[in-house]
Amino acid sequence: MSATLLDGRALSKKLNKALKYTVADWPRPPGLSVILVGADPASEVYVRRKGIVAGRIGLAHHQIDLPVDVGQEELLWNIDQLNADDSVDGILVQLPLPKGLDADAVMARIAPEKDVDGFTATSAGKLAQGQPHLVPCTPKGVMELLADAGVELSGKTAVVVGRSNIVGRPMAQLLEQANCTVTVCHSRTQNVAEHVGRADIVVAAVGRPHFVKGAWIKPGAIVIDVGINRLEDGSLVGDVETDAAAERAAAITPVPGGVGPMTIAMLMANTAAAAKSRLGLD
Ligand code: NDP
Repeated sequence: MSATLLDGRALSKKLNKALKYTVADWPRPPGLSVILVGADPASEVYVRRKGIVAGRIGLAHHQIDLPVDVGQEELLWNIDQLNADDSVDGILVQLPLPKGLDADAVMARIAPEKDVDGFTATSAGKLAQGQPHLVPCTPKGVMELLADAGVELSGKTAVVVGRSNIVGRPMAQLLEQANCTVTVCHSRTQNVAEHVGRADIVVAAVGRPHFVKGAWIKPGAIVIDVGINRLEDGSLVGDVETDAAAERAAAITPVPGGVGPMTIAMLMANTAAAAKSRLGLD
C-alpha cells in the first residue's frame, strides 16, 4: 500500500477530547436525546456507540426506546416533548424507521434548532444556500478529515458516488462550497468508472461492497469511503476496493476506522453547537 491512511478514529478522539474541555465550564452540559424505534441490531449498535461517546465527552445523553409497532402519532408526540424540553439541545431519530412510519413527517417535526443530524428540510435548505446551520454529520466529518489532512480543495475535481439526502447530496454541496468542481454519480449514471477516473477527490457513498474498483482511481487521488457493508462472514467492508485503490491513491480512509467515528464526533459537535446557541454563548 502506498496511500496514506486517513485515520478517522484518531482524529475523532482528538476532536472529542477538545470538545470535552470546551463544554466543561458551560452552565449545563449539552443535552442529546435519541429516539430508537424497534430493535434493529445495527441501529442498536449505532445508538449505543453514540451514547458511549456522549458520556465520555460529558454530554447529557438520554435515550427513548419505542416499540416497533409504535404509531406515528405517539412518535410525533415524543418529538414534541423533546422540542419543548429546555434541557434538550439535540434530537436524533435513529434511521431507518420500521415500515409504516412516515420518516419525512417524523424528521419535519424536529425543531430545526435541535436538528443535530441536519436532515430536516430547513437544515437541507440552509445548507443548499450556504447558510451556517447544523450540517449532516457524515459529510461534515469527511470535510474535517480532508481539512486535517491538509487537502487543498479549491479548483479540484471531485466525484461523489451516491446522492442520498443524508450523505451524497450534502457531501456534493459542501465540496462545491469549498470550490471543487463536483460530479454526482447515481444508479442511472453511465460509466461511473470514467467519472471516478477523472477525480482528484472521490467520495463513495453507495452501500455496495467494493463497488469502486481500485483500477478506476486516478493516481494521486484522495479516496473517501463512506460505505459500511457487512459481509456474510460478519466482516465490515466499505464501498471501495481499499487495497487496490491504496496502490494508486495518495490517501484513503479505512473501513472501519475512517468516516464512521467522524460521523459520531460531528454529532457531538453539532449537539454542542446547538447548545451553545441556545445558551447564548455564541
Ligand atoms: P442510500 O441507499 O440512501 O443511497 C445510495 C446511493 O447510491 C443512491 O444515491 C443510489 O443512486 C446510489 N447507487 C446505487 N447503486 C448505484 C450504482 N450502481 N451506481 C452508482 N450509484 C449507485 O445510502 P446512504 O447514502 O444512506 O449510505 C451509503 C453508504 O454509506 C451505506 O453503505 C451506508 O451504510 C453508509 N453510511 C455510512 C455512514 C458512516 O458514518 N460511515 C453514515 C451513513 C451511511 P439512486 O439515487 O439513483 O438510487
